[in-house]
Order: sequence, then structure tokens, then C-alpha cells
Amino acid sequence: MAVKVIKKNCIGCGLCVQTCPFEALQLVEGIVEVDPDKCTNCGDCVEVCPASALELNEPPEKMSDNEVKEVEKREKIVKKIKRELEDYRGVWVFLEQFRGEIAPVSFELLGEGRKLADNLQTKLCGVLLGSGVEKLAEQALWYGADKVYLMDDPVLKDYRTETYAAGLVRLSQKYKPEIILMGATTMGRDLSGAVATELETGLTADCTELSIDESSGYLFQTRPAFGGNIMATIVCRHHRPQMATVRPRVMAMPEKDTGRTGEVVKENLGITEENVLVKVVDVIKEKKAATYLDKAEIIVAGGKGVGNKENFKILKELADLLGGTIGASRAAVEAGWIGQEYQVGQTGVTVRPKVYFAFGISGAIQHLVGMQTSDVIVAVNTAPDAPIFKVATYGIVGDLLQVVPAMTKAFKEKMGV
Ligand SMILES: Cc1cc2nc3c(=O)[nH]c(=O)nc-3n(C[C@H](O)[C@H](O)[C@H](O)COP(=O)(O)OP(=O)(O)OC[C@H]3O[C@@H](n4cnc5c(N)ncnc54)[C@H](O)[C@@H]3O)c2cc1C
Repeated sequence: MAVKVIKKNCIGCGLCVQTCPFEALQLVEGIVEVDPDKCTNCGDCVEVCPASALELNEPPEKMSDNEVKEVEKREKIVKKIKRELEDYRGVWVFLEQFRGEIAPVSFELLGEGRKLADNLQTKLCGVLLGSGVEKLAEQALWYGADKVYLMDDPVLKDYRTETYAAGLVRLSQKYKPEIILMGATTMGRDLSGAVATELETGLTADCTELSIDESSGYLFQTRPAFGGNIMATIVCRHHRPQMATVRPRVMAMPEKDTGRTGEVVKENLGITEENVLVKVVDVIKEKKAATYLDKAEIIVAGGKGVGNKENFKILKELADLLGGTIGASRAAVEAGWIGQEYQVGQTGVTVRPKVYFAFGISGAIQHLVGMQTSDVIVAVNTAPDAPIFKVATYGIVGDLLQVVPAMTKAFKEKMGV
């Protein structure tokens, strides 16, 4: 027995198609169609339809024995799926480490994961993979984890998709976490996709907000969509774990408590070097400004309003004086005034400095998503209605070519240099 479609109401949004756990729905020329052989009449699609285009099919008063059996069979399948999802418990954070140092984004995610785990009344666990990294496990406990799953194996010395994905998949299949969070770093982006594919679950990349829906317990994963013009909240309803990546500096760094302790669970990877296809010959460390930009405490950023490459020098002078670094909008990068590694925003670096100066930057959403969580934002713009002023702590309506030298002079006087 299948759900009923009221074709005239269907708006072709496709929500029901995404929701159906049995892949029984599809859009045909913009209107939903039901495959009666797959539909179980479970009602999930009816619940999400915003246009009342689907209705549950009431069972006929008198059903044949075969029909009763069929309904019971389908109900059992629905219950089984729901029960299986309930087996998944706990919030996990992948602890990204490079040469014995945990990436700060992992601590930021532990802070966020703590809130999610408390909301779900479950445990927060770190997952640590590497070689000779056991000592690092306690750091995850200091930043809020209750437990750390550790795979310490020479095969895991250098990051390789194959070995790390195998390790994380193995742990996930054994312990069934409800949620897995990773940094949207080069490693996290690579690993999360491989793991989600292997576990046949969903993954939302570059989330800017995470929360738990009180009624369903689902992880609400919010991220910019359509070029940053809307914020989309994504839910993974029928697969576990729910996986999300978050860029560095998007979430706040939690307090460190070196008094916190917890359990460390050691697990074996079960792979030998001979069985790994990729060999790491050498690791060459790149020295790029961007690696510094996301850690900078003071950023002096310039946009199209800076006018030309030459004018960036006055911003650089201010940045050097304050011990900060230069940043830029994409428009300034595209004008060729500054390197791409300095670009802040959706397609650049996400930053969270103590002070962010925005000179001649209009405040397009794609720029804001990369810097709006800075502690203090100082915006200087000739246009009083520039959107940047909406997120600014302090705003100056004025010409940056006058304001920047005046600021530099005032800081020099204050600092006695
Ligand atoms: C998919 C996609 C991804 C994107 N990713 C990014 C990204 O990562 N980062 C990013 O920055 N943008 C990104 N953009 C581009 C973004 O939409 C904007 O076009 C860009 O941020 C504008 O840069 P801007 O503010 O410097 O330039 P403009 O919008 O041209 O603004 C210049 C500002 O300078 C002011 N001004 C002019 N002269 C002066 C002066 N003398 N003194 C003071 N103020 C002055 C003007 O009033 C104006 O507000 C992306 C766009 C898309 C579609």
C-alpha cells in the first residue's frame, strides 16, 4: 500500500524524494511519483511535504491475508530502520594531528561537540590516529572529551586517505557514533568524503552552525548555499553517523582544563604497510601567509576601496605596527593587488582574530562568512549604508586614505614609537 499523491498540490520541491527511506519517490517533470512496489506508506514524506501533496493511504477495512502480511512486513522494515538508527550513540570529533601537534580546529570542535553531546545526553569522544601519538590523547580530555579512541600504529605515521579512512571506518562500524565532526582542512575535507562514502552516510561540508533539533534529535547542519546568498540547514535523517566538517576559527576555542581526565580506548588498525598502495616519499612544508592568517590575532584587511596595489602599503604599515597581518577581499585579490592566500571569506580563509580592520570592504555575504565572528571589527567605508557596518563593532564613515594614516599616527603616539 502506497501513499497517495495529490498532483495539483505538488510544487516539485523534492523534499519528499530526499526524505523517503525506501527511495520510493521521484520527480517526473516536476511532479512527484510513487513507486508502489517500494513505498511502505510509512508517512515520512507526508510529514515533510510543505504543500499537502501527499496523503497516507488508510488501510481498507477488510484486507486479504496477503495484504495484511504485506503491511506487517513493511511496518517491520520501518521499525528496523528506526531501531538501527537508535543504536548509534555519542558525538565524535576527529583529532587531526600533524607531526605530534593537534590542529586547533579539533579543539574548537570539541567545544562545539561538548554542547551537542550535552544536548543529546551522550558522550563526547575524540578519535586519534597516528604513530607515537598516545601522549596527545590527554589534550582532547582537557578540551572536553569524555573518551578518546586511539589507533597508534607506524602505518599511520603520515596521513594517507586509504589508511586513515580505513581506521575511522573500522572504529565507526564497531562503536556506531551518532555524529562525527571534522575540521574543514585539507586533511578533513579529504578524509570526511572517503569515510562518508564507505559508511554510506551523508556529509555536510563547511558548516557555520551546528545544533540539535529538540523534537527529532537530528543534527541541524547550517552552511551557506547558492554562492552564500542563503543559509541552508541540512539534516541527515535516515543514515548514521551524521557527518559534518567545520572550517578552522568558525567555532570558539573552549577553555582548557588540565585537571580533566577520561578514558583512552586503544584499537588496532589491522593493516600492514605492504597492503597500502600509496607511499609517502617526503613531506615538504609550505610557507604561505594563509597558514598564518587563520591564526592571526590582528588582521588589517583591504578591499576594492583601497584603490590600487600601491595603497596596500599603508595597510601593511599599520599591520606591521600592530604585530598583525594583511588580509583582503576577493575583489582586491582579483584586481591583482594582493595574493590569493590573503583572501578572507567563503572561498578564502576563515578568520577569527581579536581585531579585524575592514578598509574599503563593502561586506558582501561571502566576505562576512569568513570574518564575522572576529572579536572586534573596525570598518572604514565611504558609504554609510555599506553592509559591513551591520557586523562592525566600530564603524567610521570616511576615506581610508585619510583614516589609515591617521590611525597609524595615533597608534604610534600611544605606543611611543
Ligand atoms: C561563489 C562566490 C564566492 C565568493 N567568495 C568570496 C570570498 O571568499 N571573499 C570575498 O571577499 N568575496 C568573495 N566573493 C565576492 C563577493 O561577493 C564580493 O564581490 C566581494 O567581497 C567584494 O569585495 P569588496 O568589498 O572589496 O568590493 P566592493 O563590493 O566593490 O566594495 C568596495 C567598498 O569600498 C568602499 N570604498 C570605496 N572607496 C573607498 C575609500 N577611499 N575609503 C573607504 N571605503 C571606500 C565602497 O563604498 C565599497 O563599499 C565571492 C563571490 C561569489 C559569487
